[in-house]
Amino acid sequence: MAATTFVYLNGRIVPWHDAKVHVFAPVSKYGIGVFEGIRGYWNEERQQLYLFRVAEHLERYAFSQKAMRFDQGPPSEELAEALVHLCRANAFRMTVHIRMMAFIDGFGEMSATGPVGTAITALPRESTKYSAEGASAQISSWTRMPDSVMPARIKCNANYHNARLAIMQAQRDGYDVAFLLNSRGKLAEAPAMCVFIIRGGQLITPSGTSDILESITRQTVIELAREYLGLVTIERDVDRTELILADEVFYCGTGAEIRPVTSIDA
Ligand code: PMP
Repeated sequence: MAATTFVYLNGRIVPWHDAKVHVFAPVSKYGIGVFEGIRGYWNEERQQLYLFRVAEHLERYAFSQKAMRFDQGPPSEELAEALVHLCRANAFRMTVHIRMMAFIDGFGEMSATGPVGTAITALPRESTKYSAEGASAQISSWTRMPDSVMPARIKCNANYHNARLAIMQAQRDGYDVAFLLNSRGKLAEAPAMCVFIIRGGQLITPSGTSDILESITRQTVIELAREYLGLVTIERDVDRTELILADEVFYCGTGAEIRPVTSIDA
């Protein structure tokens, strides 16, 4: 796969197949890593690749590392430059998904805080059919882990095991996506996506303390709704029954973009 593309690894641009980490590194043994998914949109008319909200992604990336007590990695300015350099090296002329990763390399144990490795990959990724056609959703029987267990606010690799369980259940049961409720029984989010509902003309989304990732797309939707529709988003607890009562429901996230939900548990 992707044999012709380049990867940024620890300060160098290397061919895809040379971007390697030892199997005994803490990132491999314990999943000790954090990451960001960033979109680059190709504009045919201007012949330019536009990277979406890089500053916000770098800020969350720094927060995730701080919360995981990683040793200091490269500064944000250096990472932003590396990002652009990598996109140029790959000569992309299409929409891409970029993954920026900070991980614990070396041969340490569970409490290792370094050495911090940095990798950036970028691969073509167009919108999926779900953005146009919508997705069927299941309310998962798995619970979104609470902040006191594994904080969803940190974008760390290990958190995705929880999301994976929900996706696997949904797919096996014949659904496209899943909703995860939190330990208080309120709506949290979906695997790699935040959720909005529209009820009685109000735009509502689970609050930042509902065990969600502080999503950049969610924030963008809030800003666009205010600016273009004059709608102030209500951020609060959302009950399970409100998902069923809602007039409209949609997911959002960098990879997923905006996806309408066409059915719930049906
Ligand atoms: N929740 C989780 C758990 C995610 O992984 C993502 C994807 N980054 C999102 C929500 C959406 O966040 P963003 O809009 O910043 O991509």
